[in-house]
Formats: sequence, structure tokens, C-alpha cells
Amino acid sequence: CGIVGYIGAKPASNYLLEGLFRLEYRGYDSAGIAVQSGDTIAVRKKTGRVGQLAELLKASPVTGTHGIGHTRWATHGQPSDTNSHPHTGGNGEVVLVHNGVIENYATLRSQLQELGYVFHSQTDTEVVAHLVAHQLEEELKLGADPESNATYLRAVELTLKQLKGTYGLGVLFRDKPGLLIAARLGSPLVVGVGKDEHYLASDASPLVGYTDKVVYLNDHEIAMITANSLEILHRDTGSQTPHIRVLEQTAS
Ligand code: GLU
Repeated sequence: CGIVGYIGAKPASNYLLEGLFRLEYRGYDSAGIAVQSGDTIAVRKKTGRVGQLAELLKASPVTGTHGIGHTRWATHGQPSDTNSHPHTGGNGEVVLVHNGVIENYATLRSQLQELGYVFHSQTDTEVVAHLVAHQLEEELKLGADPESNATYLRAVELTLKQLKGTYGLGVLFRDKPGLLIAARLGSPLVVGVGKDEHYLASDASPLVGYTDKVVYLNDHEIAMITANSLEILHRDTGSQTPHIRVLEQTAS
């Protein structure tokens, strides 16, 4: 239902949590975040209010300067801690949040199960996490450079080609700290541009007060986001010059 993301030099959990609070008005049944520090991605997620997630984070803090967050409105799989986002793919190589519905998830799920992927949730989203992990593994087997952002972009592109349905996605890679990939089809996403930092959100409300420079993603666009760079690629037309708009701040 709601997505946030951060990549920069500040503790990521501050913006992620604040952003999720600001997305509460959309309605949701669970909330969670994932924060990356080096090759560790810590996930905290829970049914209930964002306030309860905040309590969980107080008791069990996460540290790291990039991460993703989600408020879930369950469509596939009942509201539960396990079905909450973020979801993990492979053996933890990929962690992602998803808005929308993957219509062909059942087919993809059995294909991935045949390949040995073990599912932990009843969501449609988990197939995306395993599929990205699978495509990444295939890429690496074929000799792709694990140091190059392009390898991870390709794994996401190959995954999206196989999905039917709608998505807003925020993806982290265990072995590629410092990279956040976002993708959109039918489910809005906006990137906030700061000084040596970038934000991600499913609408502009979380960004207010953090940055007033925003780039709205279009359908079939993927954003490759690092602290210092933002690259946008369209499925059909390739690399796009990010169109930065200035957010009108409402006076309060
Ligand atoms: N279809 C996904 C799920 O049920 C995402 C729902 C949402 O957009 O919150 O977990």
C-alpha cells in the first residue's frame, strides 16, 4: 500500500519510520522496514500500527544508512507478521517491498519451488523477491560482474519481464550495499533528490521537509539509486534524463 526508501549518510530508520507514519492515512494492516549496513540487511516487520513497529524498533534497533519500508494492505495472504513486507529472496540476497498485485504469482511460485526456492509467506510479493534472486544468480553464473550496478539492474529487468500485474517496488541487494533499485508499473513511486542522498516514496507526503526536489517515475521505468546518483531507465526507450520538479510545500 505505501512505500518509502532512503539512501544517503543519515540513519535510514528515521526517515523510513516518519515516512510510514505519514502514509498511514492510506490505510494498512501491517508495517515493516529493512535497513542495510554493509552486507547485512536487518528486517523488522509486524502486523498492526506503525506505532507498534516503532516500539519494536526501540526494543530491537537497526543501524544503516539505506533502507526500505512498507505499509501493507493485504491482497494475497492474510495480515500476519510473516506476510508483512519487506520480503526476502533466495538465501537473503534480495530484500524488497511491493505495492500492487502480481497476477501470475501462482505459476511463478511453482516454477521457483521446482528450482528449490523455499517460500515463507502466502503473498504474491515473495515470488518477486525469489525471482530477482534467481535472475541475479543466473547473471553471475554467466560471468556478470558482481561489482557492477548493471548486473543488479539486469536481474530486476529480467524479473519484471516475467510479471503480470501491477507493482511499485523498492529493492535492496545484500551483496551490493549502497544501491537501491525502484520500479513502477501502475503503482505510483516518487524519488526525492537531496544533497548526497535520495528518498523514495509512494506519494510525495513523506518527502515534505526532507527535500522539495522530486522525480515521478513513469510506468515501465526503473530507477537505479545511490546516495550520489540517480539513473532512470525506461523499458522501451532506455536511459531518461530525470525530470526534476519542485514540490510545492504547503504553508502550515
Ligand atoms: N499484494 C501484496 C500483498 O498482499 C502487496 C499489497 C500492498 O500493496 O500493500 O502483500
